[in-house]
Amino acid sequence: MPEGHSIHRLAARHAELFAGDKVHADSPQGRFAEGAARLSGTVLDGTEAYGKHLLHHYAGDLTLHVHLGLYGKFADGPGEPPAPVGQVRLRLHSDRHWLELRGPTACELLTPPEVAALRDRLGPDPLRADADPDRAWARIRRSPTPLAALLLDQSVVAGTGLIFVTEALFRAGLPPLLPGRELTAPGWAELWADLVALMTRAVERGRIDTVRDADLPEATGRAPRVDRHGGEVYVYRRPGAPCHVCGTAVSRGGLAGRNLYWCPTCQAG
Ligand SMILES: [Zn+2]
Repeated sequence: MPEGHSIHRLAARHAELFAGDKVHADSPQGRFAEGAARLSGTVLDGTEAYGKHLLHHYAGDLTLHVHLGLYGKFADGPGEPPAPVGQVRLRLHSDRHWLELRGPTACELLTPPEVAALRDRLGPDPLRADADPDRAWARIRRSPTPLAALLLDQSVVAGTGLIFVTEALFRAGLPPLLPGRELTAPGWAELWADLVALMTRAVERGRIDTVRDADLPEATGRAPRVDRHGGEVYVYRRPGAPCHVCGTAVSRGGLAGRNLYWCPTCQAG
């Protein structure tokens, strides 16, 4: 599933392509036909991302909400839209560009109160200027739940997925199964600041890089990572491989159906 940085990149891209323009919308597949009809002919005022949720705000208090889930995908291009191929849920076009959406978990119109309710059920998003990390801390500091599970819970922190969470915990030297209530306030402040930094860099680069300069292949002489996800990471999907810092084999363990990765030495706690 795409992590929050990809959704923020999409929001910026869609604003660049369509903001200020009147758009035409349809649903070649038919599943969003009614919503598309209501959008069609309105002007896109702006876009925003909140965690893994993408919002398009249209004139007349119409908001399009998209959650890509595991399989959702956007495509876009200049000029006239191509003939639809496959299951296109939503197609937008202006005089300049087109956009297609396939396979999302959510594609729906929301009223302003529904947008407010969506925001209320999400934790602070490290990529948003209006994020309040104290809201997340209020949940974490009392919780017996493992830190990794708390950080993956979108109602605690929004936008963080498995890569950011496992890597930020490594960088902080914290064991992923540490109960939230055992984290200190300075520890949380540091972890939050690191999430902000890592995610901001991922928005800029379009990929997740978490390795400090001193531990990069160029600095240590090790082979660079080969992975379709790209980016240099410390422990994510590196089970059994030597830790880039101490050489200990990276551990893997399950947590609520997800795989966690950590260095038992660097993250001994
Ligand atoms: Zn290590």
